[in-house]
Amino acid sequence: MAFSAAVSLEQGIPQLEAVLKQYFGHDGFRPGQREIVEQVLQGQDQLILMPTGGGKSLTYQLPALLLPGLTIVVSPLIALMQDQVERLQDNGIAATYVNSSLTPGQRTQREQAALQGRIKLLYVAPERLLSESFLPLLDQIQARVGLSLLAIDEAHCVSEWGHDFRPEYRQLARVRERYPGLPALALTATATERVRQDILSQLRLEDPHVHIASFNRPNLYYEVRAKHKDSYAELVHLLRQQPDAAVIIYCQSRKSVEFLSERLNRDGISALPYHAGLSGEQRAEHQSRFIRDDVPVLVATVAFGMGIGKPDVRAVIHYELPRNLEGYYQESGRAGRDSQTAQCILFFSPGDRAKVEYLITQKPDEQEQRIARQQLNQVMAYAESTTCRRRIQLSYFGETLQIGNCKNCDNCLRPLPLEDRTIHAQKFLSCVARCRERFGMRHIIDVLRGANTQQIRRHGHEKLSTYGIGQDQTVEEWQRLGRALLHQNLLEEATDGYSILKLNEGSWQVLRQQLQVQVAIPISAATPRLEESGPVQALDVDSEGLFQHLRALRKRLADDLGVPPYGVFPDTSLRAMAQQRPDSQTQFAQIPGVGTRKLEAYSAVFTQAIRAYCEAYDLPLGLMPELGRALGSGPIIGSTNTVASSPSLTQKLTLELYQQGLSLEEIAQQRQLKARTIADHLASLIEAGEISDLERLVSPDRHEVILATFKKLGSEALTPVRECLGEQYTYDEIRFVRALHHRSS
Ligand code: ADP
Ligand code: ZN
Repeated sequence: MAFSAAVSLEQGIPQLEAVLKQYFGHDGFRPGQREIVEQVLQGQDQLILMPTGGGKSLTYQLPALLLPGLTIVVSPLIALMQDQVERLQDNGIAATYVNSSLTPGQRTQREQAALQGRIKLLYVAPERLLSESFLPLLDQIQARVGLSLLAIDEAHCVSEWGHDFRPEYRQLARVRERYPGLPALALTATATERVRQDILSQLRLEDPHVHIASFNRPNLYYEVRAKHKDSYAELVHLLRQQPDAAVIIYCQSRKSVEFLSERLNRDGISALPYHAGLSGEQRAEHQSRFIRDDVPVLVATVAFGMGIGKPDVRAVIHYELPRNLEGYYQESGRAGRDSQTAQCILFFSPGDRAKVEYLITQKPDEQEQRIARQQLNQVMAYAESTTCRRRIQLSYFGETLQIGNCKNCDNCLRPLPLEDRTIHAQKFLSCVARCRERFGMRHIIDVLRGANTQQIRRHGHEKLSTYGIGQDQTVEEWQRLGRALLHQNLLEEATDGYSILKLNEGSWQVLRQQLQVQVAIPISAATPRLEESGPVQALDVDSEGLFQHLRALRKRLADDLGVPPYGVFPDTSLRAMAQQRPDSQTQFAQIPGVGTRKLEAYSAVFTQAIRAYCEAYDLPLGLMPELGRALGSGPIIGSTNTVASSPSLTQKLTLELYQQGLSLEEIAQQRQLKARTIADHLASLIEAGEISDLERLVSPDRHEVILATFKKLGSEALTPVRECLGEQYTYDEIRFVRALHHRSS
């Protein structure tokens, strides 16, 4: 099709940046994106492992615009699908979805649109993709407009080893077989080796390009805080520090979710609960109120989150222990998807361990218990660690952090003071030795503290020389020391699920006085460490005021349009507006996140609001620092110029729809633009020689009459021609004929 050829092939790959700005409003690619897009355009099968927020969706959305036929996107969640499709439509991209939420009528209509080539991206749930009626439809689409790409989002759902196994995903192999030439792009944020292998084999990726992005999320600040009786007050303080920011608080159980959200509301913080015990309707309502910024705080169990596209979550707080480290990475990773600073805070009480351990003993299967216990230990190791939090998380995904100090976690920013615990460590280790390395931590501590338990009596351990030598320490203090020894590899724990303590070479070095043991002073004793970390990059006072003003405007617009606020603009764009205060459409176009469609839709209302605010508060306008420099050689301005001489991209999209047989009104509706704008596009396209057959715009006999009038009156001014022709000829018809006439003359 003319559109794709013009953009991707003839004008070459540098055009990708122009398309990126035009349709998505981004000024550049994120790491990896460009390479992936190029490979997609070349028809290469790919597996993309990229963390949440890395920008995976763009890697199939952008090629979908450039490739000739239809891109199918398989996505497991209805909410996720709707959200993405709305974002795309907002940007003037022809996308739609079919899933079980539609009436049969709606479904047929959308399927027809796809069949007629009026759609570039079609989102489907996996079960629909494989239904009786859908495969034949795909065959027809393939025959008529062509299938260009199969994108499989959340591809880990194909693996039983992942955390969201969906059997329907297995059936995707059938689609792969049916269309052998159709390239596939599998995407996931879950990257363990096992899952990776499963995706490759289950989805039959052929000689795939595997792209593994770093799982490091440098914009996320990680901190672990001790949980104690004042933790609730700390939590409230944290929330009050940034009163409007979107925050997710995770708890383990429904009960604690309900309890905490009620308590927060009583204390004047509006919060909504979310857990599997609520009705589907309530859940959907709470989720959408959170997404729409009606309520800033959502208190949830892990039931909440997968597929939540809200990019401006500023903090994810775990008020209770997460179940495993991967879960923690995914949940905390819902913060800061917009790459702006965000906080991930875990409130941790060593006592939580007992709760989780109890839950584990309730599991029927022994193997399951073992896995769960091992996962619990990893979480504990993370929470109690005195080294970089980021390093621990990344090492879980097999990745090594290249820098020594990440500068964005509590342990790197404010290392804990250490104390010498060699003597206590020696007592502990020698007790393990006296008990013949056949007991777990609990029993060792009982012996040290001189407890009178049945187990001690049964084994005669009250007679050991280490019995009762540790009464100066509490059970908790001993546990902390024991775990520190494990973390520092000065002691071992059998991994068969029984947690028997064993000595190793390091233990003997400690016992032989060859090694000192340094342990961090517990976090509860240290001063709270959050104060020093700014929640988001601070704006100056003036810009902050304007930012809040623009946020309020965004909220009003979003509510009117029935979309979430980030559907209007992300925080990043509003911040840039508040700082740079664009004063014209040209300046507004430079704000990150402003593409053609958003420029048309919002430039006027936002620049107007900015102007009024700046006048009221006497602030300078138009502080666009990059403008002068960018004009000369900037890649974006440069490539936009190239496009300007030929039809612009927005005109090309109109052209494509026109060539697919849509009427002017249908194009306007499809692109959510005014009919006048589309008429302008069409007139320019006619004049540029892109459209030469006017039959569908002006009937041949009317064409002739109009042309004759032009010949009589000249074609410079339209009004006299219109007056001569009378009311039944429209301005549009006249200008289309004139455009054609100008070209041929
Ligand atoms: P993922 O699917 O990997 O979790 P998304 O595709 O949802 O990530 O993208 C996360 C956020 O990053 C979105 O808000 C998106 O608009 C933004 N984004 C993606 N690519 C870019 C880019 N090249 N420049 C700026 N922002 C981007
Ligand atoms: Zn760190």
